[in-house]
Amino acid sequence: MAANRRDFIKLSALTLGLSLIDYPLYGRTNNWIKTLNSEKSVMKLSFSPYNLLLKHVFTVASNSRTTTPVVLTQIEYQGLVGYGEASMPPYLGETQESVVKFLQKVDLSKFANPFELDEIMLYIEKIDKNNTAAKASVDIALHDLLGKILQQPLYKLWGLNPQKTPNTSFTIGIDTPEVVIEKVKETQNEFKILKVKLGKNSDKEMINAIRSVSDVPLCVDVNQGWSDKYQALDMINWLHEKNVVFVEQPMPKEKLDDMAWLTQHSPLPTIADESVQRITDIKNLYQVFSGINIKLMKCGGLREAYNMMNVAKALEMKVMIGCMTETSCAVTAAAQLSPMADWADLDGNLLIKNDRYNGLKIIEGKVTLPTLPGIGVKPQKQQS
Ligand code: MG
Repeated sequence: MAANRRDFIKLSALTLGLSLIDYPLYGRTNNWIKTLNSEKSVMKLSFSPYNLLLKHVFTVASNSRTTTPVVLTQIEYQGLVGYGEASMPPYLGETQESVVKFLQKVDLSKFANPFELDEIMLYIEKIDKNNTAAKASVDIALHDLLGKILQQPLYKLWGLNPQKTPNTSFTIGIDTPEVVIEKVKETQNEFKILKVKLGKNSDKEMINAIRSVSDVPLCVDVNQGWSDKYQALDMINWLHEKNVVFVEQPMPKEKLDDMAWLTQHSPLPTIADESVQRITDIKNLYQVFSGINIKLMKCGGLREAYNMMNVAKALEMKVMIGCMTETSCAVTAAAQLSPMADWADLDGNLLIKNDRYNGLKIIEGKVTLPTLPGIGVKPQKQQS
């Protein structure tokens, strides 16, 4: 970590042509990196790397971790500030370095105002391929600005009913039965649905442990952990008897033929997560999965997520809105779209102990949107 951090600071200083700034990757950070053109630009983009500290070690089928790197962004325009965020879980290939490098190329001075959102995002898209978290960090800040200029929360601008937000699931990572039971006891009154990570060798043990103390509805996320479609179907039939609502990404993302067979035979809806990233992926998943899990960091932000929701709905596919481990900034932005979703998995901010924003609330398990304009967040006061 120390070496990476040193390299990163060196890289940032080189890239930015700045003298060395000590980026406080943990805790407080005031050193916002301004883009070189920012002084003459109408919209001023700045960004700051930040490391999220997880409350508990988080284990899924492929890895365990205790931190998640993010980059926080701000776009200033006529005295207003739009907030955004890029979150980089290790498996998606982006890093604080790559996000800083990408954002350094962004020149908003060629655009008159944030209402040119569509053209701005087409321009952002063309800067480089991939880099979807970096792109999302600009998209979210621009949407926040739009709402603030119009003094309306985003859900209103989309014509969505804030009463129609779904319950959010809360995620239980892979762990020993004792720990799983403890976590379920802690959370079952607060959440109306729990998400259980499966895909290692303890699937039935995990579910049986939960069912020994709770009958709360469950959804399961296998994170590509089952490789044989017949065994997968056996497991899904068994889960169906255990009050499981749907199964997320049961098989490796490229096994679409096996997945189509599984979906056809499955008594539970199947939801694509790793198999779907952007809007262009949806056509390949029609009749392969029952639905898709949309995340801002995978698809490049709210603009594309909104379009993906409409495409999926037109194909009569189920829609889930999810998140990465993120501050309340990106989670609340995603929550603005949640009235369109069948299910929400918006617990990323609840898994960290150093959030930087106040935003959505979970009240009796339900996503509850702030009435503030834009994405609906306020920065937390920083302790000195
Ligand atoms: Mg998933």
